Amino acid sequence: MRLILLGPPGAGKGTQSERLKEKYHIPQLSTGDMLRAEVKAATPVGLEAKAVMDKGGLVPDDTVVGIVADRIEAPDAKAGFILDGFPRTVHQAEALARMLRAKNMDLDAVIELKVDEATLLDRIAKRVKDMLACGGTVRADDNPEAFKTRLDAYHAQTAPVADFYAKKAVLKTVDGMAPVDAVTRAIEQMLDGPARSVHSG
Ligand code: ADP
Repeated sequence: MRLILLGPPGAGKGTQSERLKEKYHIPQLSTGDMLRAEVKAATPVGLEAKAVMDKGGLVPDDTVVGIVADRIEAPDAKAGFILDGFPRTVHQAEALARMLRAKNMDLDAVIELKVDEATLLDRIAKRVKDMLACGGTVRADDNPEAFKTRLDAYHAQTAPVADFYAKKAVLKTVDGMAPVDAVTRAIEQMLDGPARSVHSG
């Protein structure tokens, strides 16, 4: 199963990906996580990406496409994967299409989490508060200014990615404002098809 989760920052892509990877036994490939790992390890890619990421902007397409191209070659991605945070631009979507075509592979579904943006800022604020309350650290880009930049980048560059997949008829939309479990169920139903009804008599 090869899936993409689309949606603005704070829409719950990470939470849903965690659940889907357990159910379908496929890895979650989060470009945000991969880039944060590069930053932490102070690799050349990480050093270049850090400033852009902290401000909430997008890392250059070629950098991200290179990371994903390497990652989907790994043995654990052979049976499928969930892409979380990629593609974020139409250019990245086209690059992914070329990568998959070269491997004779298709996407099974692109799932878009639709959310009410007025509540996203509240979600981010809550995420930060909860993390700090339990003694954790927060992401450098989880502050109102960077969040606004991330949301702007989403509108300008990622929203067209949904249209790109809608044209290919693989786009499925889920109400991301529903409770977490309900969102998971809606996604699973889309992927597994409706449960067969049992007729008595
Ligand atoms: P979000 O919560 O905004 O969905 P992510 O963890 O997916 O955050 O990404 C964090 C940051 O990493 C982004 O704001 C961006 O700077 C960078 N990033 C992640 N994925 C991509 C991508 N596909 N293209 C460009 N930049 C990316």
